[in-house]
Amino acid sequence: MTKKTDFVYSQESEPHRLRTKKILQEFPHLRKLIGKNPLTIFAIIGLVSSMMLVAWLVRDQSWWVIFAAAYFFGAFANHALFVMIHECTHMLLFKSHNANRWAAMFANLPHLMPGAISFEKYHLKHHSFQGIHELDADLPNKWEAKLINNSFVGKVFWLLFFPVFQATRVSRLKEIDFFDGWLLTNIVVQVVFTAAVWYFLGWHSIGFLFISFWFSIGLHPVGARWVQEHYLTHDSEQETYSYYGKLNIVAFNVGFHNEHHDFPSIPWNKLPQIKKTAPEYYDTLYSHASWTKLFFRFLFDREISLFHRIVRKERGKVKMTDTSKPDLELVHEEPLEV
Ligand SMILES: [Zn+2]
Ligand SMILES: [Zn+2]
Repeated sequence: MTKKTDFVYSQESEPHRLRTKKILQEFPHLRKLIGKNPLTIFAIIGLVSSMMLVAWLVRDQSWWVIFAAAYFFGAFANHALFVMIHECTHMLLFKSHNANRWAAMFANLPHLMPGAISFEKYHLKHHSFQGIHELDADLPNKWEAKLINNSFVGKVFWLLFFPVFQATRVSRLKEIDFFDGWLLTNIVVQVVFTAAVWYFLGWHSIGFLFISFWFSIGLHPVGARWVQEHYLTHDSEQETYSYYGKLNIVAFNVGFHNEHHDFPSIPWNKLPQIKKTAPEYYDTLYSHASWTKLFFRFLFDREISLFHRIVRKERGKVKMTDTSKPDLELVHEEPLEV
């Protein structure tokens, strides 16, 4: 087996716009699923409250108990909160952009690290410019892929320090304005919240929240989601993969990633209906049935490296200015009129 030294380059445009167009031609009533789900705010309130309740319960516990609570409960709840931030990013809760942003910042609280606003900036570009290395933050840096490549130890290290690797990608994405008033607000809110947790509950509660954050996007079965979404895990050039396993229940259907890329304006609770309505478009694609299985396969399988990603140069018809609007419905539908 030869080690890969570069990504897989594609001449094709990203697959989602074309599929959306075909599906809507065949099933125009799917448009009815497009809309907001304001009830999602109650899921956010429930998740934030449960994290704070456990943070309070473990305030005097030993670090072993805290670690177990974080790994077996906190990581799942925090991961679900990232999914909630993702919903807000696509403005799937409320009509008002600012209301979605405040909801995202509220969902961000137990993470301690400010991520809600910067996620919005980078994630919308991931949709509009999938596979464009200078704009898609989901793609690893070239040095990152070279460093980790297909080694077991490297991949454990990569997942363990996933938040750090993600942060290093900001310097690559020069075209995206990183800092603004919203980011500052996000940072201030997180600092004040963290100080309040420390003052009222103490270090052990901070530790619980931090460990929960760390594993919710890393060395944990829910961390396999980052591999599931766009790594070439099958012997094909299929670019996006869905996960249809049971953890979708605690992950608010975030596994339906092909469906989400095809219809980014449909809220989490309606994603399974897309596949149900148009099974011939999704059942013919490769998908994953277990995050845990994929987690171990990714670590041990030397045939999967960080270079197993599709990269393209062609930006398509989307302009940078289009994507400053968070409503991807507009961005996504523009090429559909062709
Ligand atoms: Zn994606
Ligand atoms: Zn998205």
